[in-house]
Amino acid sequence: MTTSGTAVRAGDLFSQLASDTCWILGAGASYDCIGPGRSCTPLTNQLLSWDDFDESFRRDLGKVLTQRGSTIYLENSITSRLEQTIDSCRASKTDRGAHCLEVLTRKIGENLRDEQVVATLARGESIGYRYCAENYLWLASETSHNPRQSVLTLNYDTVLDHGYDQLRNATPGPKLYFAWQELLKSHQEGLRSPARSNGIYLKLHGSLDLISCHNLSCRLYRTPRFQVFRAGEFIFEKLRRRDDICEECGKPVADLILPPGKNKTLEEDAFHRRVYAEARKALQARTWVVIGYSFPEYDQDLRALMQEAIRSSKDPKLMIVVSPDANVIAPRIGQALSLAVGAAEWTFSGLIDWIFEREGRERPGLA
Ligand SMILES: [Zn+2]
Repeated sequence: MTTSGTAVRAGDLFSQLASDTCWILGAGASYDCIGPGRSCTPLTNQLLSWDDFDESFRRDLGKVLTQRGSTIYLENSITSRLEQTIDSCRASKTDRGAHCLEVLTRKIGENLRDEQVVATLARGESIGYRYCAENYLWLASETSHNPRQSVLTLNYDTVLDHGYDQLRNATPGPKLYFAWQELLKSHQEGLRSPARSNGIYLKLHGSLDLISCHNLSCRLYRTPRFQVFRAGEFIFEKLRRRDDICEECGKPVADLILPPGKNKTLEEDAFHRRVYAEARKALQARTWVVIGYSFPEYDQDLRALMQEAIRSSKDPKLMIVVSPDANVIAPRIGQALSLAVGAAEWTFSGLIDWIFEREGRERPGLA
């Protein structure tokens, strides 16, 4: 097992993939899809302080958001800062973290116009699909047609959901996005989780398709509630919506930001316990491919789940980290998990390019 990566050795690693694979997605995977030129931003190396968030980051973000007229995109330097800020918000054990993140996401949602979002995400028209970056479309296709594949995402966007949604219209077969929706529904109705042993799609943290009421005197205070996306709706459009109100008290609700860690209400904790029970099943897969996630220290939840899976597995796991700085991340997480971890110093796009090249197929929709 290699712990240092070159393109060739990364290819060797991927030729060892078992048919049952669990894909684990971090922010780097998404920014690789929504940035220009399919360039990946550096992964989070350090967490920002709140002072940084309040001062320079807001100024930088403000500059980007005030650009009008032409297609705007978030520059690599900004997306990197955005990623770090989101991680800071997640790491924060206070309500202020959740509040800051909510303000930030709403601000982005309000300032980006639909056509700008489309221009940023359509990415060469992605074989005719809108709102769907090619990388995620490939992953949706790969996992939809193989029930032994699972996906765990830690992200705040819904690009992969849209990939599943687009495929649903084009092909029959397992619908992973709806597996997630079924799970949310069963939780809200107090029913058992749908029986699944594989083919699982879970959102561990980040955008969960959930809302919650933050009115302290409300019976549903910080109780996760299921939120249905409207047909064709994209995350930025959802964030722009103002008409969601609490069914109990009538006050506006907030998107639920549920970071890893202990700062949870009983209801939030109950939700995470249900999702983590499903994650244990997904992590039984023989191989794990981690894309664009840097395993920050505070994400003890995922590490614990992985450690448990390694301990209880009869077969050794093959774990590959895909990231431009995989040579830094892989040894670090490998040490934490006591596992030899392969490093593929690729972007998500680099991985997909390699797969198409290996299969002798032209990658669709790209110049
Ligand atoms: Zn309420």
